[in-house]
Amino acid sequence: MVRCISVLGSTGSIGRQSLAAAERLGIPVCALSAQRSVKLLEEQARRFSPRLAAVYDADAARALRIALADTETKVVSGPEGLVEATAIAESDCVVTAVSGSVGLKPTLAAIDAGKRIALANKETLVCAGELVMARAQARGSEIIPVDSEHSAIFQSLGSRLRAPHLKRILLTASGGPFRGMTRAETYHKTPAEAVAHPNWSMGAKISVDSATMMNKGLEFIEAMRLFGVTPEQITVLIHPQSVVHSAVEFCDGSVVAQMAVPDMGLPIQYALTFPDRAPTGTAPLDLFSAGSLQFFEPDMENTPCLALAIDAARRGGTAPAVLSAANEAAVALFLQGEIPFGKIYECVAAALDSIETGTADTLDTILAADALARNYVLRNH
Ligand code: MG
Repeated sequence: MVRCISVLGSTGSIGRQSLAAAERLGIPVCALSAQRSVKLLEEQARRFSPRLAAVYDADAARALRIALADTETKVVSGPEGLVEATAIAESDCVVTAVSGSVGLKPTLAAIDAGKRIALANKETLVCAGELVMARAQARGSEIIPVDSEHSAIFQSLGSRLRAPHLKRILLTASGGPFRGMTRAETYHKTPAEAVAHPNWSMGAKISVDSATMMNKGLEFIEAMRLFGVTPEQITVLIHPQSVVHSAVEFCDGSVVAQMAVPDMGLPIQYALTFPDRAPTGTAPLDLFSAGSLQFFEPDMENTPCLALAIDAARRGGTAPAVLSAANEAAVALFLQGEIPFGKIYECVAAALDSIETGTADTLDTILAADALARNYVLRNH
């Protein structure tokens, strides 16, 4: 079990659940960070007494500094503040629960400091997976996936990222709130409809990604990077019950799956207790009441974002970075009411068509591709 954690993105859904896990397990919290949610961050700081609280937004940081003036918590701001919260000496584990490619630099800082990464920021591995995994190996930093599917794959592999006899990954997907609908039927769906997920309670960005199935596409690339497999070694299965969180097939035909009630508390906690386990306090899985478990092939025609992501995975280089950044920009526009739901796919497809992609061997190349893709979507939607 880890000794002390830093939580990046502590006011989001995964961040709040990470703090709940830390409290349950008696793990101290030495740094918190958020974009700008001053009120909740103040509450968290008073409850966990971290040495550091990082707020990305400068005005929000000033407000928090005043609010926490009577405490021992030091308030820092900006991208440097995020890196400071990551590299803080007391922590041996960083939970990367920020959403989007803003998580990339702090994740690399945590790796350079040799800490365990409880990785909940999939965009980092999507846009810079090869770089991040190579750096983690060189620095001896453990990467433990928090994404429920990747935690399931990790557990099914015997709690390791590399398994010599692994043949195939079976990546499960609930299908999201619009499963069974055509593109025409979902084109004008509202943000409120898109974020109403049937099985999982999550933040807005990832909920929209689940509705477009881009989330599964990003997870496809995340799985390639984490477990060192090719696109041909990953099969996506629609599994509406969200009981099997993913599975692996070995060369002898043996399939090992991980099952549990759909609750992020478990994969979050496992990333902190690994290689041990502890009770979570959530309801146990009751297979009698779960009833039948179903598995279907994905409908690529009506969830084109998934097809687009798999295509970007095959292209490799900076194509996944362009895909992920264009998607982030398009999802933000959709949540602001600027574009219809169906336009998210069109924006990402257009960015991938228009932006030249190349090798993704340096951080600068990846960040440049990311910026080009965002600007393209903002200019051309
Ligand atoms: Mg997931």
